[in-house]
Amino acid sequence: MSGFLDARPRVGYFYTGKDSNQLIKEQVNKKIVKDYKAQPIVISESSSVYDGICTLFLEDVGTLFVVNNMGHLAGVVSRKDLLRAALGKQNLTDIPISIIMTRMPNIITCTAEESLLEAAKKLIDYQIDSLPVVRAVQNGNRTVFEVIGRVTKTTITKGFVEFGNEVTI
Ligand code: ADP
Repeated sequence: MSGFLDARPRVGYFYTGKDSNQLIKEQVNKKIVKDYKAQPIVISESSSVYDGICTLFLEDVGTLFVVNNMGHLAGVVSRKDLLRAALGKQNLTDIPISIIMTRMPNIITCTAEESLLEAAKKLIDYQIDSLPVVRAVQNGNRTVFEVIGRVTKTTITKGFVEFGNEVTI
């Protein structure tokens, strides 16, 4: 079960030649985004900053993904983006969320097939809290992205805890 030994019919048990480092790495790389991703919370590009703040509280998330009228990923809005917008004197219902969002093509994404480790590295490298899990689709000659999930620091922590509980080496 630890991976040091393997069995083959008519051969019996044999030493796999893998050391514990290799086996741990294999186990870590087996954790795939699609098995851990959470439901994405999306908001329309035409919504206001006020709507964004309400959605953030109602859905109990830290980041919203903004979609255009075709349902494709247009941007990302974080807690601090909303907080910054709220510091101004303007009426929050008058500020479109599209003005304050980080927009495509500057969005860091991941796919369902990527490993959890690769997704975690993106969160660290880009100093962000959340990644939209996307599926690329062709729209004419443009590639656009549908949002099919969400990876956050919580997602990664869940994977880490599960790994710690499973590890047999
Ligand atoms: P907070 O701003 O609440 O600390 P983040 O660290 O996630 O949350 O966001 C920092 C900045 O990065 C924000 O301006 C946000 O719009 C942007 N951002 C968040 N997630 C992404 C992402 N996946 N790709 C690109 N930019 C992002």
